[in-house]
Amino acid sequence: MNKSDSERIAGYLERLGYVWTDKREKAGVVVTTTCGVRQSAEDRVYGIVPKIKKENPKAVAVVTGCLAGRTDVQKRLKESVDIWLPINDLDGLGRRLQNIVPRHPTSVIEVGCRGIRKSDSSPASRRTRNDKEGSIGGYLSINPKYESNISAFVPIGNGCNNFCAYCVVPYARGREAYRPAEEVLAEVKSLVKKGYKEIILIAQNVNSYKSEVRNSKSETNPKSKIPASPELQRGEQNQKLTPINFARLLKQVNSISGNFWIRFATSHPKNMSEELIETIAGCEKVCHQIHLPAQAGDNEVLKRMNRKYTREHYLGFLKKIRAAMPDASISTDVIVGFPGETKQQFKNTEKLFRQAKFDMAFIAQYSPRPGTAAARFKDDVMKREKKRREEALTKILRQTALTNNKKYLGKTVEVMIDGRKNEVRFGKTKTGKNVKVKTGVNGKMRIGDIVKVKIDAVKEFNLSGTAARSLK
Ligand code: SAM
Ligand code: SF4
Repeated sequence: MNKSDSERIAGYLERLGYVWTDKREKAGVVVTTTCGVRQSAEDRVYGIVPKIKKENPKAVAVVTGCLAGRTDVQKRLKESVDIWLPINDLDGLGRRLQNIVPRHPTSVIEVGCRGIRKSDSSPASRRTRNDKEGSIGGYLSINPKYESNISAFVPIGNGCNNFCAYCVVPYARGREAYRPAEEVLAEVKSLVKKGYKEIILIAQNVNSYKSEVRNSKSETNPKSKIPASPELQRGEQNQKLTPINFARLLKQVNSISGNFWIRFATSHPKNMSEELIETIAGCEKVCHQIHLPAQAGDNEVLKRMNRKYTREHYLGFLKKIRAAMPDASISTDVIVGFPGETKQQFKNTEKLFRQAKFDMAFIAQYSPRPGTAAARFKDDVMKREKKRREEALTKILRQTALTNNKKYLGKTVEVMIDGRKNEVRFGKTKTGKNVKVKTGVNGKMRIGDIVKVKIDAVKEFNLSGTAARSLK
């Protein structure tokens, strides 16, 4: 989400007449998009932001993201930051910059680790500025400057209403707001037209997406195995707006013509539905890769985390996913050492890991976040014990991931090429597995090509094989 925000900030600033520069030390404006989900991320910001100011004191330093609204952070970094920007107020950045930018001779901007130089003020660039000014609506509607040429994050919403006890996101990003389906579809169509091969729909909780959509003949894609929803079929006759949830949005994105793959993250277990599983299984462009954060495997801990599901509910959905898509790869997020998590309760998370047979897991040691409900609980699991629990889950993950990957041995799978080093190419399967590809008969593989690869070796977190032939 932060990467995607940075792409939107860059797109916005380009429209105001700024251009990228690679040289941070010469930038007139540097924007840092911060993450405050864990203390370790926050600590990095305390290192990076003062460094930017030190190496380029004349730069206008803008800080946005999770930490921008925290008064304690603002106090600590006050010498190094000129503008604290709530991401939802991106439209206000141009106005605020106008008051400060002239102090720098060449207005150059950097977002993340790249930069923008201010363009000349030719009539063409002035026109662009004026034309766009009035059209900047909610920040998600702003055209981004995509970092990749083949793969794009497309946010479908922002914010969160769930208030998990440990999590800062509802405070940092505010309540859930979803992008109109028409706008999401328009962005995807334009990306596909430009040749993008991988569309990643993102939101804190994709599966609580809600919007309305005008009738669309496109949902009745003749290739789709899934018929249009009855509401949409009715909508086609009466031209009315009809409600659309995430499953239906996926169907609509799937029906956009072109050769591309669709991924999405993150799904909340409490919002999983059979309709969504059927949709993923039935839409040919939607990848069988599901990230479903469990956070814990013990019901008492889940309750105190305010997750609103049980381990039985979670495992029940994994069963349904695997029944509908035996090839699905499933990943998770989990927190170890949540306040009060006993050794016995942790054993239930270990058990969940063995039962779930994850392909990947992001295992985080609990980190108290100011302002959250859990910050009032005693952080009573010692650092050493958190580390032990993290290692214990990593050990199980390595076993289940390797067992899952062994099923690929000798199989030929589709791989989208996304990198190269000398004669070797790198890519991902539709199930999100990283693959090292020997070029074989197919020496001309380019980034973005989808090729068939015969898998001949596997490790826990990657596969390798030889390219058979290009599909595109
Ligand atoms: N919306 C997603 C969900 O409900 O699972 C997760 C988004 S959250 C920003 C990303 C991950 O960070 C969480 O899944 C959780 O595992 C981890 N996380 C959030 N707060 C944390 C904390 N206080 N300590 C450790 N990990 C945390
Ligand atoms: Fe944070 Fe929970 Fe919202 Fe995910 S669902 S962003 S973990 S509050």
